[in-house]
Amino acid sequence: MQQAIRHDWKLDEIQALFKMPFNDLLFQAQTVHRQHFNPNEVQVSTLLSIKTGACPEDCKYCPQSARYDTGLEKEKLMEVEAVLEKARIAKKNGSTRFCMGAAWRNPKDRDIPYIVKMIEGVRDLNMETCMTLGMLTREQAITLKHAGLDYYNHNLDTSKEFYGEIITTRTYQDRLDTLENVRASGMKVCSGGIVGMGEKSNDRAGLLMSLANLEEHPDSVPINMLVRVEGTPMADQTDFDYFEFIRTIAVARILMPKSHVRLSAGRTEMNEQMQAMCFFAGANSIFYGEKLLTTENPEANADMELFAKLGIEPEKRQDYSDEVREAALIEAVVENQQTPQYYDASIN
Ligand code: SF4
Repeated sequence: MQQAIRHDWKLDEIQALFKMPFNDLLFQAQTVHRQHFNPNEVQVSTLLSIKTGACPEDCKYCPQSARYDTGLEKEKLMEVEAVLEKARIAKKNGSTRFCMGAAWRNPKDRDIPYIVKMIEGVRDLNMETCMTLGMLTREQAITLKHAGLDYYNHNLDTSKEFYGEIITTRTYQDRLDTLENVRASGMKVCSGGIVGMGEKSNDRAGLLMSLANLEEHPDSVPINMLVRVEGTPMADQTDFDYFEFIRTIAVARILMPKSHVRLSAGRTEMNEQMQAMCFFAGANSIFYGEKLLTTENPEANADMELFAKLGIEPEKRQDYSDEVREAALIEAVVENQQTPQYYDASIN
């Protein structure tokens, strides 16, 4: 029987899920997963940093904050054409979604025309578009939606209770307000958090409760493992228990059955078996190729090798109309006709 989609989860119910025997929890998560997704497909996105470093915020895990000396090279907002060139490469490598991230507290109105051109250009490549630019006003969200932005990423990071230990320059409510502005504009919401920052199990349950009890579940839920970057206040954080990470993925899958749960930052530190366990627990989205903002990401080839070992296929875009599919097919055929390997059965 299919589990009802709920938005009224209580903390003790979520804590009880976390405490289940490991195999029972994974079985439940995989059962829920199969009700809503093909278990052998994983959605693949490419993430590009379009403006790196010098962020005025003080997120303690982040090498892009101007407050920490991490040796990161700052970069201005990239030129539109340079961004589109990267998007073309990502498409060639099989990505269906192109995510663009800028280290800003919030975008300034003077940046918006460039942002709009980037969105329009990526849309013209028939890729899904996603951005993460910091806090958004309702008007900015509507402008980006009109330009064709499909997803907006804005993470809650952790529980409401633990949040003040990690960030002091914006409130939890600021984040919820941005998520509400994004949702009200009609864009899809991408929101998740980070584990391994010294939070308690209750905080991981609290983070997932905040996400699952939003008016609508986020369409994408990135679960990040802290990447300890030298120079940030989190550099010396102790190792995080991998089983607890897998449990977090499984509980996210159970609470938000229709959302894509993304195995996100920290994946480079996981071996293939650990990643496979995360897929089994319900993760069905990854970033590949390009840099995952400023931390390393496994090379695309390694990802495809792992997919082959597990019999996993990259997920196709869901929302293509027949016309768009047809246009993409024709485009691919024309491209292939120009390669020496092309064999046209119709002329033989
Ligand atoms: S996480 Fe985002 S808002 Fe926080 S310091 Fe890094 S770039 Fe800035």
